[in-house]
Amino acid sequence: MQIYGPNELLKDVHERDLCIACGACVDLCPYFKTYRGKTAMIFPCDLEQGRCYAHCPKAEVDLDGLSENLRGRPYDGSALGNYRKVFAAKAGDRMLKGPFQAGGVVSAIMTFALERDMIDAAVLTDREGLIPVPRIATSAREVVGCAGSKYMAAPTVAAVNRGAREGYTRMGVVGTPCQATALAQMRSNPLDRPDFIDPVALVVGLFCTWALDTRKLIAMLSKRVDITSIRKMDIPPPPAEIFVLETDDGRMEIPLDEIRPLVPEGCLVCPDMTSEWADISVGVLEGEPEWNTLITRSEKGHEIVEKAVSEGWLQTREIPEESLAHLAFAASNKRKRALIKCIEEGLLNTGEEERRSVLRISEDVVRKIVGEEEG
Ligand SMILES: Cc1cc2nc3c(=O)[nH]c(=O)nc-3n(C[C@H](O)[C@H](O)[C@H](O)COP(=O)(O)OP(=O)(O)OC[C@H]3O[C@@H](n4cnc5c(N)ncnc54)[C@H](O)[C@@H]3O)c2cc1C
Ligand code: SF4
Ligand code: SF4
Repeated sequence: MQIYGPNELLKDVHERDLCIACGACVDLCPYFKTYRGKTAMIFPCDLEQGRCYAHCPKAEVDLDGLSENLRGRPYDGSALGNYRKVFAAKAGDRMLKGPFQAGGVVSAIMTFALERDMIDAAVLTDREGLIPVPRIATSAREVVGCAGSKYMAAPTVAAVNRGAREGYTRMGVVGTPCQATALAQMRSNPLDRPDFIDPVALVVGLFCTWALDTRKLIAMLSKRVDITSIRKMDIPPPPAEIFVLETDDGRMEIPLDEIRPLVPEGCLVCPDMTSEWADISVGVLEGEPEWNTLITRSEKGHEIVEKAVSEGWLQTREIPEESLAHLAFAASNKRKRALIKCIEEGLLNTGEEERRSVLRISEDVVRKIVGEEEG
């Protein structure tokens, strides 16, 4: 597959307003930088092929290629992607307490992996004020310090690029599905560099329906609340239809209709809700705020979860069938919406055409996802 360079990245992703500020193109070279929730190219570069383009989750993502590479089979477009098992889960008794978003499964897995030396650092997302910032954590305390969801597009993957330069060779990374896609592309060494060493040992992907534009969210919230007083944000599952802020002064609810205009365009063409390219995926569990939904995908991810359970870092139980059905329904709806939008905007490539696109995916799978008529 053809890989292009930074000028095509600007044209295909930035000029179309599809950049999700994931950070995958940042800190690979001196040219792309992230600042307060935006990524920008600060000096011109005429490279014909670049890792910036090759790793970007909004440029020429070849879903068949990723699936063959990671799962050893063609992409089939199934609602939840390939997986070993889905559980209901929460942090076990061995895990420190902390301000977790839900059951603390993500923080417990990363702490366990660090304590057992399965990873040499955890790449996480903290915040400074309201701005999400990546962190390289090497202790349980730092992992807990990054707990909680920042419902904003975050440049987390930039810290993987930085960590690799600083000499970390077995990083564990927590990221949204777009970030997990960028990592999967990066780990496949798309430019066949002979000096490539995969610096990532574990990817824990979050579920994500959409994120919010950091600058727009700050502009909106600063008119209503002292943003330094925000302790936690949450989007309870449907039918709640609210964005909840917990502040020093109490709880504040904003109708989702007022929040949705802050969703970046890049989220509207995103086909993945459950981080299908991660080793382990984690989201909330409908109706049980103290629990998570946990999906094991790779062999390694499954083994880590089994060990974490046997050593008391995690507890798991069967997921209610109804919750699993709702999750699959929501994930396939997100996929379908994204593909329809890509088709309408000419951003999908189903063949071997030279046309550049956001997603490459086979005609058969597109038909399966969007239905015969729309495909
Ligand atoms: C933008 C966004 C959208 C989400 N949408 C959904 C959804 O639609 N449905 C659903 O079930 N779950 C969603 N989640 C996931 C959910 O909010 C919880 O993160 C997940 O259930 C894990 O809970 P936990 O208690 O194990 O997390 P914790 O143990 O509290 O750990 C949370 C982890 O999330 C990481 N993190 C926080 N913010 C970001 C960010 N912006 N980008 C990358 N990593 C981040 C932190 O590094 C931390 O390690 C979303 C999360 C984010 C960040
Ligand atoms: S989506 Fe990520 S990799 Fe692509 S241009 Fe934006 S920050 Fe860079
Ligand atoms: S919806 Fe997709 S593109 Fe948007 S933040 Fe979530 S994973 Fe990234």
